[in-house]
Amino acid sequence: MSSQPLLETLAIHAGQEPDPVHGAVMPPITLSTTFAQPEPGKPLRFDYSRSGNPTRAVLEACLAALERASFGFAFASGCAAATTLLHTLRPGDHVVCGDDVYGGTYRLLQHAATALGIRTTTVDATDPAAFAAALRPETKLAWIESPTNPLLKLADVAAIARYTAERGVRLVVDNTFASPALQNPIELGADVVLHSTTKYINGHSDVVGGALVTRDPQLAERLRFLQNALGAVPSPFDCYLVLRGVKTLPVRMQRHVETASELARRLEEHPAVERVLYPGLRSHPQHELARTQMRGGGGIISIVLRGGEPAARRFLTSLRWFALAESLGGVESLAEHPALMTHASIPKDKREAIGIGDGLVRLSVGLEHVHDLWADLEQALSKARAET
Ligand SMILES: *Cc1c(COP(=O)(O)O)cnc(C)c1O
Repeated sequence: MSSQPLLETLAIHAGQEPDPVHGAVMPPITLSTTFAQPEPGKPLRFDYSRSGNPTRAVLEACLAALERASFGFAFASGCAAATTLLHTLRPGDHVVCGDDVYGGTYRLLQHAATALGIRTTTVDATDPAAFAAALRPETKLAWIESPTNPLLKLADVAAIARYTAERGVRLVVDNTFASPALQNPIELGADVVLHSTTKYINGHSDVVGGALVTRDPQLAERLRFLQNALGAVPSPFDCYLVLRGVKTLPVRMQRHVETASELARRLEEHPAVERVLYPGLRSHPQHELARTQMRGGGGIISIVLRGGEPAARRFLTSLRWFALAESLGGVESLAEHPALMTHASIPKDKREAIGIGDGLVRLSVGLEHVHDLWADLEQALSKARAET
């Protein structure tokens, strides 16, 4: 075969050969914690399941291939992946991080990594020059997310990567929201990509998991050491579930994008809605960047409802198909109120300063039929407008 396999093919086949013993087409779940060695100290590929496991190895190879990377590492959660990556740093090292990143990442950097002597500065990552200006001589890691949560702001990954490469700073992109189906940060110049596989990659809201992928052999060697040394590894069963989920990532993502695009267009015209934030809309301030950097606007829409918190409460409690719940990226639609739920730990004045007001609602658009989802949104919007 001459051409490189494309995403749909890689999602199903990368890292996966039929089992050499029985010919099983789907990778078996290898639960054994230990592996027999032909000679003392000379194991075959695996010796102990924390250090390496056959089911996990298949998942790691598949995720690396999907991100066009060379090395993949799976973890027990997205936060476990982030923790492991932070252990590549030393006391005194500095991190520059986008100011609108996942709350757990912010907490890890500001309230846990500080105990390791790591200091973090947060900066608006929508402005690459401002981001570059925050890099210091002791900065070792730059951390961005694009699109961000819940405001769906984009960071110009290629522009930031040029600055970080110039300064010898490693760039990590949390690619959870776009998923490898819509965006490949390593091809845009990132050194390492982080995923919460809990979201789109597994896609069925039944596993918590994480991953790191890179092309850099030195970083990979360090991550392999740390994955084993810190031990925040996923179970073989969870690896199996994520592998099962990721096979449909490209088709799921295509439908998430189609449905979200249609709903975003309709929401934008609805009188109960003040503003729609969706990178696929022409009205998004970074729509052009979305077109060059992503292959679709994603499956998350944030809306600002007229009438603030009371309207948002009426809307959220009136929804039928959208479950009122945190998390995102599953087959089922979810709705949440960032100010009261996922981002409640941020003080109100700070929250409002970055744009997370009381009328803001985040929708994770699932795979239900677009007509049913629109009917649901429409009836809940009419209740949101009703005076109480
Ligand atoms: C959920 C999430 C994480 C954390 O992942 P867990 O699997 O919950 O530990 C990190 N980044 C983003 C963007 C997320 O949405």
